Amino acid sequence: VHLPPSSLLSFPPFPARRSSITEMASHIVGYPRMGPKRELKFALEAFWDGKSSAEELQKVAADLRSSIWKQMFSAGIKYIPSNTFSYYDQVLDTTAMLGAVPDRYGWNGGEIGFDVFFSMARGNASSPAMEMTKWFDTNYHYIVPELGPDVKFSYASHKAVNEYQEAKALGIDTVPVLVGPVTYLLLSKPSKGVDKTFDLLSLLDKVLPIYKEVISELKAAGASSIQLDEPTLVLDLDSTKLKAFTDAYASLESSFSGLNVIVETYFADVPAEAYNVLTSLSGVSGFGFDLVRGSKTMDLIKAGFPKDKHLFAGVVDGRNIWANDLAASLTTLSALEGIVGKDNLVVSTSCSLMHTAVDLVNETKLDEELKSWLAFAAQKVVEVNALSKALAGQKDEAFFSANAAALASRKSSPRVTNQAVQKAAAALKGSDHRRATNVTARLDAQQKMLNLPILPTTTIGSFPQTVELRRVRREYKAKKISEDEYVNSIKEEINKVVKLQEELDIDVLVHGEPERNDMVEYFGEQLSGFAFTVNGWVQSYGSRCVKPPIIYGDVSRPKAMTVFWSSMAQSMTSRPMKGMLTGPVTILNWSFVRNDQPRFETCYQIALAIKDEVEDLEKAGINVIQIDEAALREGLPLRKSEQAFYLEWAVHSFRITNVGVKDTTQIHTHMCYSHFNDIIHSIIDMDADVITIENSRSDEKLLSVFREGVKYGAGIGPGVYDIHSPRIPTADEIADRVDKMLAVLEKNILWVNPDCGLKTRKYPEVKPALSNMVEAAKVLRTKL
Ligand code: GLN
Ligand code: ZN
Repeated sequence: VHLPPSSLLSFPPFPARRSSITEMASHIVGYPRMGPKRELKFALEAFWDGKSSAEELQKVAADLRSSIWKQMFSAGIKYIPSNTFSYYDQVLDTTAMLGAVPDRYGWNGGEIGFDVFFSMARGNASSPAMEMTKWFDTNYHYIVPELGPDVKFSYASHKAVNEYQEAKALGIDTVPVLVGPVTYLLLSKPSKGVDKTFDLLSLLDKVLPIYKEVISELKAAGASSIQLDEPTLVLDLDSTKLKAFTDAYASLESSFSGLNVIVETYFADVPAEAYNVLTSLSGVSGFGFDLVRGSKTMDLIKAGFPKDKHLFAGVVDGRNIWANDLAASLTTLSALEGIVGKDNLVVSTSCSLMHTAVDLVNETKLDEELKSWLAFAAQKVVEVNALSKALAGQKDEAFFSANAAALASRKSSPRVTNQAVQKAAAALKGSDHRRATNVTARLDAQQKMLNLPILPTTTIGSFPQTVELRRVRREYKAKKISEDEYVNSIKEEINKVVKLQEELDIDVLVHGEPERNDMVEYFGEQLSGFAFTVNGWVQSYGSRCVKPPIIYGDVSRPKAMTVFWSSMAQSMTSRPMKGMLTGPVTILNWSFVRNDQPRFETCYQIALAIKDEVEDLEKAGINVIQIDEAALREGLPLRKSEQAFYLEWAVHSFRITNVGVKDTTQIHTHMCYSHFNDIIHSIIDMDADVITIENSRSDEKLLSVFREGVKYGAGIGPGVYDIHSPRIPTADEIADRVDKMLAVLEKNILWVNPDCGLKTRKYPEVKPALSNMVEAAKVLRTKL
């Protein structure tokens, strides 16, 4: 097995090498920030908890940045990004750069420090955090800028320049990366009190002067290239929005003089009209494309690419962990070379590598065969460089043939294929699966059995994961404690959570998920076809990371996964206990999925495995089963033309999981997002009995869909408070929220619950918050 040498830890003495033979044109769009072992996460959390100083946090961050730059430098990358580091989020960094701090954080001007920055991200004692939402179709979340006609922009964070200088002091000339001005505005929302129809792009004239200041400062500091990320160009934008790009870049053109300006796109191909706009932007010298997801980009480039401009060809997948097919990439690159010319082609990644894992070198538990099929960020940097060297006539034959051998072994491996599963899943395509009775009749049957009060209260599943709990799981995994000890500890925890919920007088209980470290990993570990990393973390938001499983083979369920714990929990209470599962679409969307068959096939395979689990839970006497589809929305393709197909197989997969249960078994689902309006009909088509859904951080955007007259007959629990923030909501505040919901939803279908699971919170926050929630429900019941 040939593993590319790398690792931040085993980093060679610096400066190890900088090839002087040929100027190699290689580029990395962006790099993970968290560190190979989540160093930044731990530093941030220690700082937030008051356990370390700002200087200590800054030191960890600076060390991470420098090791990343040095790594790319010694790998031979020509265009090395800077300012792709962030203490929280790159969009929030841009908000800070522009001084667009919402009034409620009491910022009085001057350079924005940790205080104001983290208040915007996480809220503070007096003000809730800013809204957070999915970054395109990834599992990364950005902080949504809040803008209005009166916002006064000012240059308030010099982070981009500081980072550029920091790298320069190390002897590395980097490409500062900024979120482009048009993308920034398109990803913003009107601030509270501002008319929802406010034209955010009307702020362009106010934003551009700040960009000009930043750019001229970068130039003064010595930057020769900058990268402006404009990923919104891959969306279906109307001509007004497209014109904003033309106008913005025309206005920036004079400040671009003397600079190489790269406009980077990613996550899909650029629609034809947008492609023309993009490649005609004034003053821009290079254009970056995602050639992995952008299946039509090749045709567009063939049809015309501006003369003497650089093409940054994103052939190495930043969204996945599979080793690149180097031979295939080389063919693609050679074809592109024929179109744009040798000097104009730059080998690149499809998007920032922040969406993939950091370094394969730290994977001690994966077997060598599987490892040979993979490449994480550090290895992808090496792949990019190997491709650019090959193009320059310095092909590393050993590296290429090791890669070809690995790919061949993956293709033919018996670990990948299970004929029975292939057949069962293939049979599902094109068929329909629905519960026989309609939802209203089912809810009646369920209510007879469950006998719940009006506005029933529940939670989403997880309870706080204490240090002690993590220790128990870790020690059990490491075989330091026996199975008995483990089961007893978890049982005790479940018992504690059950008793607490009874004390709080919650109606439908959960067991708290103490046995799970992650809602996808827990299931993946028990299914075949999945592999797990030790350090394959990917940032989700702020300091939160996820460790997506790798689906490498056909999926099946050897035995029941949750029945043991759920029946134990049910035996501790006479109240209904929800069985808690993760749905197939979420397992798919939160995993690194095999790229050798269509995604829907893999999804159907998972759906069949979850279906078996649902039926086993029902047999064990669990009458309420929640099948989380937290990530259904985020898998929605960015381009409208592809959405209907996705929704059809995704919703179908969900229905397959519970098509076999009795009318009296209540199926819940849960979703972690509020942008729900455009897919409401698909959500209704999921035909769940009850849906709980994130709502509190998005100004009740969710409710507007019902206000506009969509008929909703199933149970629904829009979250009544934000669990992403340590802030404790008052009962009045919660009652107010529920009141607003009652204005648009029938009282007999409304549930009262938090936005999401409570796993990241602490008991001193959770107890009063839930107590206030139950109190609010009780007060309202007396009025109905
Ligand atoms: N049941 C899960 C939990 O409560 C759901 C988490 C999620 O939606 N992200 O933790
Ligand atoms: Zn959630």
